[in-house]
Amino acid sequence: MKNITNIAFDADDTLWINETYFQETEAEFCALLADYMSAREVSGELYKTESANNAIYGYGVKGFALSMIETALRVSQNRLEPRLISKIIDMEKSLLQKPVVLLDGVREVLEKLGGRYRLVVATKGDISSQERKLEESGLLGYFHHIEIMSYKGEKNYKKLLGHLDCAPENFLMVGNSYKSDIEPVLALGGWGAYVPFHVTWQHEKVENENLSRPRLIVLEKITDILKYL
Ligand SMILES: [Mg+2]
Repeated sequence: MKNITNIAFDADDTLWINETYFQETEAEFCALLADYMSAREVSGELYKTESANNAIYGYGVKGFALSMIETALRVSQNRLEPRLISKIIDMEKSLLQKPVVLLDGVREVLEKLGGRYRLVVATKGDISSQERKLEESGLLGYFHHIEIMSYKGEKNYKKLLGHLDCAPENFLMVGNSYKSDIEPVLALGGWGAYVPFHVTWQHEKVENENLSRPRLIVLEKITDILKYL
């Protein structure tokens, strides 16, 4: 890894806690619809709605809220009480304002790598909500560039590399999602450091991840990266 010059970090569940808040909200949502279906069934329905909507809404809290409302209407066969829609909107607003809790070791890693590499953030989600979290995280000063993408695929990583004027072999992406942080970067010829978070969003799950690939390292915690760099 001696040729690495640029390191990009995913944000949600790599720098700070995120999925935990979504799962709490989903549990609340399921409880709201308990008169119509079991929690498991509501979760399944929400998953279906989100899968159909991700391409239209992109990723983030607002799209998630619209998918909750759509699911609630379908599950209740349009008999949902309007106050429950208000409740879902309240849940969305509260999700948008959750405190930013950094994961262990993040600040130490950025502090140690900061002077020696060019550090960037590569994340997806609602722009306003990701900007708020970055602002509140107190980490902005470590980063040379922030890239908020609608979708994390090869095309957008290629664009980021172009913007950074960085060859793939000099680029390392650190993230908790194999599907959106690691796979596309490896495919372009870059490096990946996969740091799984204890919960994974269902849409980011991959069957049979191939963890022994060239230019891929798997870390138990983010500070382990310091052993390599
Ligand atoms: Mg993530």
